[in-house]
Amino acid sequence: MNILVINAGSSSLKYQLLDPSTGELLAKGLCERIGLDGKFTYKPQVAGKAGKNAVDVAMPTHSEAIQTVLNALVDKDNGVLSSMSEIDAVGHRVVHGGESFASSVLLTDEVLKAIEECNPLAPLHNPANLIGIRACAAVLGDKVPQVAVFDTAFHQTMPPVAYTYAIPYEYYENDKVRRYGFHGTSHRFVSARAAAMLGKPIEELKIITCHLGNGSSIAAVKNGKCVDTTMGLTPLAGLPMGTRAGDMDAGVMEFLMNKYNLSMSEMMNILNKKSGVLGISGVSSDFRDLDAAAAEGNVRARLAIDVFCYDVKKYIGSYAAAMGGVDAIVFTAGVGENSPELRTAMTEGLSYMGVAPLNQEANHKRGEEVDISGEGSPVKVLVIPTNEELMIAMDTAEIVEKL
Ligand code: ADP
Repeated sequence: MNILVINAGSSSLKYQLLDPSTGELLAKGLCERIGLDGKFTYKPQVAGKAGKNAVDVAMPTHSEAIQTVLNALVDKDNGVLSSMSEIDAVGHRVVHGGESFASSVLLTDEVLKAIEECNPLAPLHNPANLIGIRACAAVLGDKVPQVAVFDTAFHQTMPPVAYTYAIPYEYYENDKVRRYGFHGTSHRFVSARAAAMLGKPIEELKIITCHLGNGSSIAAVKNGKCVDTTMGLTPLAGLPMGTRAGDMDAGVMEFLMNKYNLSMSEMMNILNKKSGVLGISGVSSDFRDLDAAAAEGNVRARLAIDVFCYDVKKYIGSYAAAMGGVDAIVFTAGVGENSPELRTAMTEGLSYMGVAPLNQEANHKRGEEVDISGEGSPVKVLVIPTNEELMIAMDTAEIVEKL
């Protein structure tokens, strides 16, 4: 089965074509600057096929972008399919499913309407996801089923005690203001892989999944269900990130807005784009740059890394408390998968709760699922590369196979 996975943004569209039964990736790439000067990247994963890197293609709307992707996939020289009929279904990443979606769903007119109703919760993302869905339907026709996979869905099992904000309750009742959480597809994928690695049913495990990339979040997964997560109504909450502030006293906003006469949108721009480890260090949002700067003695780069690691450790402790223990801690995404130094710092001093010092030889392995726990560690520490596209393709296949 060939599933086309689409992640549509307002002016970009990432795609992968894969077979969820084998996990085989046939091609991937992206369309950028849609509506502007259109750039197209195509990376076939089949030997002997040539790719394209940010070549100029006119893409006034997402429909032309999808058409460009399809043309590349069936191109007679460098395509990976012989015709469009070999695409069995399309899986879309949708950012916000609000309280309406606790799992992936087949896209129908009704579902599209319900996603649209979630737009106010993610005004930058959901409308772009919908444009991608409609563009696919326009180009592929309604014979090719489409499925929506939500970033928020996995977190819908959180109990009210974890998702309720301590503000007047009518804002929840009337406006649905509550914790939702994001990166759900990744947390679900790596927690399932962790159970497989440990050889135990996920229903018997307490797992803390740390998705640490440009955007970062942690989830507490008890018996296969998410019971808490760090992101909130929006992805601005929780850990400090590359450029996002994460949790802080909301009073900081009033203080700075008054003092510097900032508008709300200027303030939000600071919190989303100029804060996090970039804001603390003044160097970069990329942990590789921070490592290099810290090694040269840059004190603020060191502080940014330390604040990040301290917060991750704090959440690990609080989620162990929330679940009444922990069997495994999982590290994933750009930082989680690639930085042995940060993994060490984030798990240091946790012996009291059963996390022995890491096995440094395993901790320095790259690019694979690996158990990095120290010998005899009651709590396992695992590195698991995430694969949100594969999870989206697997959900899509499962849903369309039942049609
Ligand atoms: P996104 O959240 O955009 O999907 P990723 O999960 O790909 O991002 O994570 C990207 C981040 O991973 C980079 O900004 C960088 O900070 C970090 N990263 C990648 N490789 C390394 C590495 N070798 N050491 C430390 N950090 C790394």
